[in-house]
Amino acid sequence: MNDCLPEQTYIWQFLEEKIKKVLDSYCYKEIRFPIVEKTALFTRSIGEVTDIVEKEMYTFEDRNGESLSLRPEGTAGCVRACIENGLLHNQQQKLWYKGQMFRYEKPQKGRYRQFNQIGIETYGIADADADAEVILLSADFWRTIGLTDVELQINSLGDEQSRAKYREVLVEYFRNSYELLDEDSKRRLEKNPLRILDSKNPEMADLVKNAPNLLEYLDEESERHFQRVQEYLNAAGISYVVNPRLVRGLDYYNRTVFEWVTTKLGAQGTVCAGGRYDGLVEQIGGRATPAVGFAIGVERIIALLEVCGVEISSKLPNVYIVSLGDKGQEQAFSVSSILRNEIDGITIMQNSGGGSFKSQFKKADKSGAGIALVIGEDEVEKGIVGLKYLREKREQETVSVSEIVSRMRELI
Ligand code: ATP
Ligand code: MG
Repeated sequence: MNDCLPEQTYIWQFLEEKIKKVLDSYCYKEIRFPIVEKTALFTRSIGEVTDIVEKEMYTFEDRNGESLSLRPEGTAGCVRACIENGLLHNQQQKLWYKGQMFRYEKPQKGRYRQFNQIGIETYGIADADADAEVILLSADFWRTIGLTDVELQINSLGDEQSRAKYREVLVEYFRNSYELLDEDSKRRLEKNPLRILDSKNPEMADLVKNAPNLLEYLDEESERHFQRVQEYLNAAGISYVVNPRLVRGLDYYNRTVFEWVTTKLGAQGTVCAGGRYDGLVEQIGGRATPAVGFAIGVERIIALLEVCGVEISSKLPNVYIVSLGDKGQEQAFSVSSILRNEIDGITIMQNSGGGSFKSQFKKADKSGAGIALVIGEDEVEKGIVGLKYLREKREQETVSVSEIVSRMRELI
């Protein structure tokens, strides 16, 4: 679990602000739900034979003996919140969330035990246009933050019957190469063979690559749906690769699944993953409601921004206030509060803890502020403020206190 220090937080804020703008532009609304849920919610939705439920959840008993877990992902809690609050019946919802998720993973680059996701979920739309919209929205994220090194992969898992048919063929295929399966895959063979396709073990790569093609077993309606998704993406000019071996690490998906992947982050190359999950709402106890969504791994996006050299600069203060003597320091409080009240968005760093003019100017320079306002005893007596430009060569000025607001408005 990582601390996010001040030298990093501005990058997170940059990302969150940009993404929020995209979400606003699509009229998605934010939903906030708890970090802790009953364990059963996750085992029922994510699936018993998944990495998450088998070995990654932070599970504990509360004082009442009830089993609770820190959320390992957002979708289950989002669905629960929507059902409980009556947001789904006969309605469409377009929602987003962000926050910490918890998984007991083997820590490595791009894999943490507390990590952050920003996710979206739509409810009540069975049509392929919802699948296309969420994919488009994710593409807009990358465009807005300046990321180009990501590739969209899509696939369709079909419906329950077609998946059952495929499952038989797949089990047969893996059974014929039983000795090549790793321990995890052997265990999954009976309970959840599709998950073997999602194996991260490089020794399994060849076997997975030659596995039967899921798309050849699609039912007609799923095929039409998948076709339609692709037509929408084509119309929007989004390029993609159909990857018939793309399945997800969670059990609740059907039909469209997709991932945005990069080759620039080593093994942990998936930065965004999602798909359709029409069965989940009913499975959790609501009325059947079609749904589609995705989650992006914020840590991985931030790592990718760095690797790709996308420059994000922190916001520097507009003004540093240098003050000397009791009267000067008092006046500094008065001037800074007038400026903050009058000029929306102004950022003022007021010198704290005294010090000589020289040491205060050193701090002013270091702060990166564009302007220093100087208030000594002399300035207080004359009712003026000294104004010094810190990053450009311009004459120092003096401004009367009564005009400081209008002068600063001109300057910043
Ligand atoms: P993976 O196959 O990488 O384990 P997953 O199938 O478990 O991913 P999801 O549950 O779909 O992933 O999560 C969506 C995204 O959240 C992932 O694509 C990834 O970017 C990010 N993510 C998942 N687990 C972690 C983690 N432990 N640390 C950091 N980011 C993560
Ligand atoms: Mg995982």
